Amino acid sequence: MNDTFDLIVIGAGPGGYHAAIRAAQLGLKTACIEKRMDGKNNAVLGGTCLNVGCIPSKALLDTSHHYVHTQHELAAHGIQVSNVALDVAAMMQRKMSIVEKLTQGISGLFKANGVENLAGHGKYLGNKKVEWTPANGEGAKILTAEHIIIAGGSEPVQISVAPLNNETIVDSTGALAFAAVPKRLGVIGAGVIGLELGSVWSRLGAQTTILEAQDVFLPLTDETISREALRTFKKQGLDIIFGARVTGCETAQQQVMVRYEKNGEAQTLTVDKLIVAVGRRPATQTLLAPGSGVNLDERGFIHVDAQCKTSNPNVYAIGDIVRGPMLAHKAMEEGVMVAELIAGHKKTTMNYEVIPAVVYTHPEVAWVGMSEQEAKARGENYKVGSFSFAANGRAMAAQENMGTVKIIAHQETDRILGVHIFGPQASEIIMQAVIALEFGASVEDLQLIIFAHPGLSEVLHEAALAVDNKAIHMAPRKRK
Ligand code: FAD
Ligand code: AMP
Repeated sequence: MNDTFDLIVIGAGPGGYHAAIRAAQLGLKTACIEKRMDGKNNAVLGGTCLNVGCIPSKALLDTSHHYVHTQHELAAHGIQVSNVALDVAAMMQRKMSIVEKLTQGISGLFKANGVENLAGHGKYLGNKKVEWTPANGEGAKILTAEHIIIAGGSEPVQISVAPLNNETIVDSTGALAFAAVPKRLGVIGAGVIGLELGSVWSRLGAQTTILEAQDVFLPLTDETISREALRTFKKQGLDIIFGARVTGCETAQQQVMVRYEKNGEAQTLTVDKLIVAVGRRPATQTLLAPGSGVNLDERGFIHVDAQCKTSNPNVYAIGDIVRGPMLAHKAMEEGVMVAELIAGHKKTTMNYEVIPAVVYTHPEVAWVGMSEQEAKARGENYKVGSFSFAANGRAMAAQENMGTVKIIAHQETDRILGVHIFGPQASEIIMQAVIALEFGASVEDLQLIIFAHPGLSEVLHEAALAVDNKAIHMAPRKRK
């Protein structure tokens, strides 16, 4: 193998593999170093997202949804089922085969595009040099590249009050691989990951309690939407305790006693499994040699500008290891942007204002752009409109008529500032809003578009009409 490249990417998660493939498409001689090994000790591509994040969590969310749906919702359709049983091993096997297919797919794409796939550990030494320690035990090699992209991603935050033991106290990775449904499950953190993993095991039968230190629920989501979502999740059986600060854990006889404080009072919760889901931190520890010229910011992320350039002119950093939302699609787009910049497309930029976020509960929560509370805080002169899935024919036919679409728009210009959704297929409907925001659409644009009937997306249309108090399937607000 030649040891000189146009580009070396460290990390093959969504950020790194997108960057590597796009760079190779553009004719750059590209290598990608990835240290991750799977349970069978094979080197795997795809990062957190494909191996222990987005994909396996969605596989389990879907299985657990089918389980609940079959048990509790089919009867209303006149479908009788009995003896519904869960096979956790089969569920895990299905999850693993999806992960395998996708990660092998990335290997295939690397081959097809001529990306040199280097299994092992990468470290940026500075001065265009990368140390690669191969996974097969061979000695470290020094590689050289004109450009480097650091895409090392993130790892779960650990807290001393709930130390992982990988048996009863686990992080998100452990929670994707329980061998059986725990009878009592505790989750620390009601963020996106805590909610999704809590939902999986709660739907499968675990009595689930989520302890959340803050008093607010999904703080980036519009309050109308997060309130409705919270009500629904509680009805579904998720016990979410706010203002609950975990102070310690005691483990004995395969159970965990979690100590926490609420309103200044000491409380306890005893569970069979505890998931620690208190956030993720950038994985910078072994990536940069002293003197690499790549600086971190005050929160420990690699410091970058709007085009992901670091303090070292030859080095870029993308994805979870830099500022911005820790989302796979944000990492992917940064990867593409940087590959194109390196290939000489100088004007390539990315619109950080329009990044969708989704919580894959059922129904889902999804949003893009400003919430009403953010519009207020920014001093925007805004107007809002919302419409409920309860009045939507398609949602009713599917027995999914729960939730709301809310639009926040500028009072004078009519430009859409944000769209927040709780409801069926919110993750898909939000993309229409993303396209609207990206094109700088006005509320009137959405009002004038013809939506197929019957469709869940009609709720977005009606919410746009509601902004100007002219929704058809809703009593009008009192006119001033
Ligand atoms: P990563 O995916 O973390 O990849 C970085 C890779 O770099 C890793 O494989 C790591 O092994 C490798 N690496 C690090 N250091 C080195 C080194 N020194 N040498 C070689 N290799 C190295 N996001 C969404 O958008 N949608 C979702 O539904 C979603 N669900 C999630 C569910 C869970 C349970 C979790 C944990 C995360 C989820 N995320 C989701 C977040 C998403 O996984 C991340 O935002 C995304 O993976 C970030 O991509 P990345 O390329 O920056 O880093
Ligand atoms: P996110 O950062 O979205 O993944 O969410 C993590 C959540 O965990 C946040 O809402 C935090 O408030 C919460 N959290 C962090 N530390 C604790 C703790 N010790 N006890 C309870 N909740 C916590």
